[in-house]
Amino acid sequence: MTDSTTSTTVLGWPRQGPKRELKRAIEAYWAGRSSADELHDIAAALRADAWKLLADNGIDEVPTGDFSYYDHVLDAATMVGAIPQRYRDAADNDLDVYFAMARGNDTVAPLEMTKWFDTNYHYLVPELSPGTTFTADASRQLAHLAQATAAGHPARPVLVGPLTFLLLAKPAPDAPADFDPLTLLDPLLEVYVEILDQLQEAGAQWVQLDEPALVLDQPATVLEAARHALGRLGSAMKRPQLVVASYFDALQGAFEVLADAPVDGLAIDCTVPDNVTAILEHGLAGKRLVAGVIDGRNIWAADLDDRLTTLRRLAERVDDLVVGTSCSLLHVPLDAAKETAVDDELRSWLAFAREKVLEVRTLATALTDETAAAPALESARNALASRRASARTYNDAVRARMAAVTDADAHRGAGYDERRTLQQEALGLPLLPTTTIGSFPQTDSLRKARAALRRGEIGQAAYDATMRDEIAAVIELQEQLGLDVLVHGEPERNDMVQYFAEQLDGYLATTHGWVQSYGTRCVRPPIIFGDVSRPEPMTVRWWQAAQSMTERPVKGMLTGPVTMLAWSFVRDDQPLGDTARQVALALRDEVSDLEAAGCRVIQVDEPALRETLPLRESDRPAYLEWATESFRLATSSVTDATQVHTHMCYADFGDIFAAIDDLDADVISLEATRSGMSLADELKESGYAKGVGPGVYDIHSPRVPSSEEVRELLQKAVDALPAQQVWVNPDCGLKTRRPDEVRAALANVVSAAAEVREGL
Ligand code: GLN
Ligand code: ZN
Repeated sequence: MTDSTTSTTVLGWPRQGPKRELKRAIEAYWAGRSSADELHDIAAALRADAWKLLADNGIDEVPTGDFSYYDHVLDAATMVGAIPQRYRDAADNDLDVYFAMARGNDTVAPLEMTKWFDTNYHYLVPELSPGTTFTADASRQLAHLAQATAAGHPARPVLVGPLTFLLLAKPAPDAPADFDPLTLLDPLLEVYVEILDQLQEAGAQWVQLDEPALVLDQPATVLEAARHALGRLGSAMKRPQLVVASYFDALQGAFEVLADAPVDGLAIDCTVPDNVTAILEHGLAGKRLVAGVIDGRNIWAADLDDRLTTLRRLAERVDDLVVGTSCSLLHVPLDAAKETAVDDELRSWLAFAREKVLEVRTLATALTDETAAAPALESARNALASRRASARTYNDAVRARMAAVTDADAHRGAGYDERRTLQQEALGLPLLPTTTIGSFPQTDSLRKARAALRRGEIGQAAYDATMRDEIAAVIELQEQLGLDVLVHGEPERNDMVQYFAEQLDGYLATTHGWVQSYGTRCVRPPIIFGDVSRPEPMTVRWWQAAQSMTERPVKGMLTGPVTMLAWSFVRDDQPLGDTARQVALALRDEVSDLEAAGCRVIQVDEPALRETLPLRESDRPAYLEWATESFRLATSSVTDATQVHTHMCYADFGDIFAAIDDLDADVISLEATRSGMSLADELKESGYAKGVGPGVYDIHSPRVPSSEEVRELLQKAVDALPAQQVWVNPDCGLKTRRPDEVRAALANVVSAAAEVREGL
């Protein structure tokens, strides 16, 4: 690169490797099949390849230290010595202590895990207490930096910033519940100062501090703490130049704090128009701007002309401009070119991590030499034009149907009380009816059958026969256990979103599009590229098979519109609410077909309803409006006597009870065991008056709860809520559990329900 070209970077890179080599290497280490050295070697090779790919494709400065064996927040915790004593005691070397925090071991449970902002990536929640003493351990950062430097790459270490670290942390179990981790800011800053010193010593010119917590609604005290923190780091005696990165939303009030801070650069999410406006209006006081104009979270090829216009405007206001991604590319798959099963036209619309790098490069080139960039700009223009004009994105029948939707379509006929009576007559269930959430253990033989079908080793008929056998076994088990409302067990599902995505028009499932969800767990989110519709029934035959085997009611089982969107890559050319409505109408067809086939209880899962809540409070009402409406649109075609269930998990529901009520489901099952059934009291307080099954069996743990334990939880539920309202079920689906655990645990659930029923 000559000096006159604009330079380029990305804020972070996927870690798993092109073939998920890291996952395999780590799992081999966990299983004792390989040594720590073997793991370190594979990891080092993956990093080397990643940096080379970046450099070969015109990235001038590569990120380092963002690579992780599990999670970058956990890495930050180790870097500052925030390792609770119970983990230090749980293993005899640093690597195993690290993995004990990540996933637990025989002696200790893991740290809590939760979602990284509104992405589908999960981080480990650091535990802090007044007694936490921070100590610097920059060894990992230094090693990665040295490796990149030795390979000849200008490198920029990436660290979770001190503020975000504290804001994401929680009080340790032994800390007072009202302990505020932010009170530890000053000692933490001293440790960061020490680490910055060491990185500078090692030759880092720039260090990136990630402070995405600044895009949340933060009180003035937090903004003040940010001002203080950046002031302290900026005034450090010996330090690299600092670039503070924020992403995922508008900075709003935090913008000024950053613009004023004595740091050398800001990486700002310039896919958010508000942020661009703020930069143009206020300027950056001589700082470098890493302009995140390429969206690091979606998989669509960018409108490069539009991005270039933004960059040109920014260039007039900012002297030192670097072209970059809005956030780490951790959230997108690696390489769209690998999707060879996708036709050329559709593939040209996609940009995964590697393609985004090319976009960044093209934009930077175009800023100084538009002729040189012309061919790339032209092909981007063509791809966009083909997508905009394509009949594949636009389905007249779907549009016409959307336009004809009335308010009545999104409402049940009768109110809940009347429905309840009719459903009770139809179903004749006992008080405290027992049920499960849908899936039964996904055994090896099921996975093998799916793989064999995919590879053409067995035909559809043989595959269906295997599924039917499994359904028969699951139905028989549930009858033996004495459950009241049965499920077919979901043996045919690879995943609760992908299974439906594969059968809906307008949806694309990828072959290699893996994205890290947490640790070594990767998911392949399908892509919604066009108007969504359902060509054929998706689940009816499985439900029919199950119902033909029993007299008891079997639940129909679907994934709801919000969750379908939340765990997919969504189109960016129409409002999310419109896409949700289209998915809802497709599901509505399935709901109607299930009912027509005789199904009287239909469950539509929405585990993601809470997690998709927008980061900023002001955006939430609009989201909840379309989210709840699309659920009702999916489920309201049924008669009053048909019972609609929904299910949610993975979250605190405290702030969305009103939205849950707006779903107007007849019954909702919710995760409740880990919080010791405090949910029941919250439900009571919220005035929730419809059917509810607060979970009484923690399915995340291999432990089988005793009948006694289950009874206590259930008793709490019926103490708080009228027994007529209460259902008895596990926290979530049973797919990850072993068959023997499930049989034993469900037996205890059923016997506990019987005892509590007795005592009513
Ligand atoms: N019905 C799904 C199951 O039981 C629900 C899964 C979920 O909530 N994540 O597996
Ligand atoms: Zn669940």
